[in-house]
Amino acid sequence: MTDTIFGKIIRREIPATIVYEDDEVLGFKDIAPQAPVHVLFIPKNEAIPTLDDLQPSQAHLIGKLALAAAEYARREGLAQDGYRVVMNCREYAGQTVFHIHLHLLAGAPLGRFGTAG
Ligand code: 5GP
Repeated sequence: MTDTIFGKIIRREIPATIVYEDDEVLGFKDIAPQAPVHVLFIPKNEAIPTLDDLQPSQAHLIGKLALAAAEYARREGLAQDGYRVVMNCREYAGQTVFHIHLHLLAGAPLGRFGTAG
């Protein structure tokens, strides 16, 4: 398994503010938040570098990340106003950590996204 900073967070080798955990998913606050609420949801047991590396046998993990984000948003009272989930894949999307993760952004109206440059 390739290691990343997120592997160290999973193993509790470096600190993180963990806000969600189940058998397969860990959720923790982003160290450089881009919205009032910015939480990252990652698979705990498999280190998949990018969405492009996801195998059909691993597809359920994406659903688990989405369900974890939705549950967290409901629990924190964020679901009514809404939120955004994002996965960045490689250079053009600005991916910096190569352990697949879902961003949850919430807590204020969010700007439009996807513009080049
Ligand atoms: P990416 O750009 O790969 O989609 O997202 C990686 C995210 O991980 C970034 O938003 C970045 O702020 C966050 N991040 C990077 N290193 C750490 C860390 O050590 N701890 C936490 N909590 N977040 C991190």
